[in-house]
Amino acid sequence: MSSDSAPAHDGQHRLCIIVPVFNEAAVLPLLMPRLDAALATLDADVRVLFVDDGSTDATPHELARIANNDARIAVIRLARNFGKEAAMTAGLDHAEADAVVIIDADLQDPPEVIATFWQHFKQGADIVYGVRSSRAGESWLKRLTAATFYRLIDRMSDTPIPRDTGDFRLMSRRAVDALKQLRERHRFMKGLFGWIGFRQVAVHYERAPRAAGASKFNFWKLWNFALEGITSFSTVPLRIATYLGLLTALVAFVYGGIIIAKTLMYGEPVRGYPSLMSVVLFLGGVQLVALGIIGEYLGRMYGETKRRPLYLIGETLRVAPRDDR
Ligand code: UDP
Ligand code: MG
Repeated sequence: MSSDSAPAHDGQHRLCIIVPVFNEAAVLPLLMPRLDAALATLDADVRVLFVDDGSTDATPHELARIANNDARIAVIRLARNFGKEAAMTAGLDHAEADAVVIIDADLQDPPEVIATFWQHFKQGADIVYGVRSSRAGESWLKRLTAATFYRLIDRMSDTPIPRDTGDFRLMSRRAVDALKQLRERHRFMKGLFGWIGFRQVAVHYERAPRAAGASKFNFWKLWNFALEGITSFSTVPLRIATYLGLLTALVAFVYGGIIIAKTLMYGEPVRGYPSLMSVVLFLGGVQLVALGIIGEYLGRMYGETKRRPLYLIGETLRVAPRDDR
């Protein structure tokens, strides 16, 4: 990769395509011809930066083979699997170009759309993000949960987070530089992209089914991802806990009043085991839920205070490894 952010020697803008890959040996041979063809149409000086997120299959060999045939290709190999968010961050940290595109390796994001992104960039957009108009090849359950999640976070977060938007996007130099300043460990990239602002343009595209291999995200991972998103960009759950507490206290207060009045009027014949039991269990449950919510935030604060690096680099090819914080 060459340096600095000025246009390249021949006056062309420089574009860096970042591809996070984790165990994608099956799709890489399919990706390269399509990516090549799509990039050939651009009036840009293009580089492709693969971030191998600690793959355990033949991906490293496959990447080495591809890079051997093409001097425009650079590879960063992380020391282990740090997750897609960290892999993208590593790519952004090392991409030195006027614009950067993040694209999945599995051809779910059609490389042909990059040409449209590029047009918008040349017209002055800082962020051009892909909006999925369809999600072919994904189960109704995944579509439903994804839709629910986007609507939920939209209502809970103050940061605008566009719906049905993945990580497939173009970013200008200043957008990347802005993003690089956000070094939080609990990285919900969709939220961070929205947080920085600048001139954003949406481009609709059809999301294709995965070309080969299997998705790396199961439901448990997606659930945790959703929790990450909500806790990173909203404190509404904490407020819900407060109101829930207030509501139970109010109900308990009224109920206490009723018991006192009843005792004064009719005396106290003891009994009352069922009501006692249900009140104890209910209050215990509410308290545990509230504690759990606080715990979710506290645990994340603990993670942040350790200030560990977001990723570690094993090897690189045609990229100078940087100090990664
Ligand atoms: N990926 C990654 N690290 C991970 C998991 C995934 O770099 O820990 C990459 C993966 O190789 C792919 C992209 O992130 O290029 C999207 O992953 P996937 O297609 O499995 O997710 P889905 O499209 O099913 O949400
Ligand atoms: Mg995919």
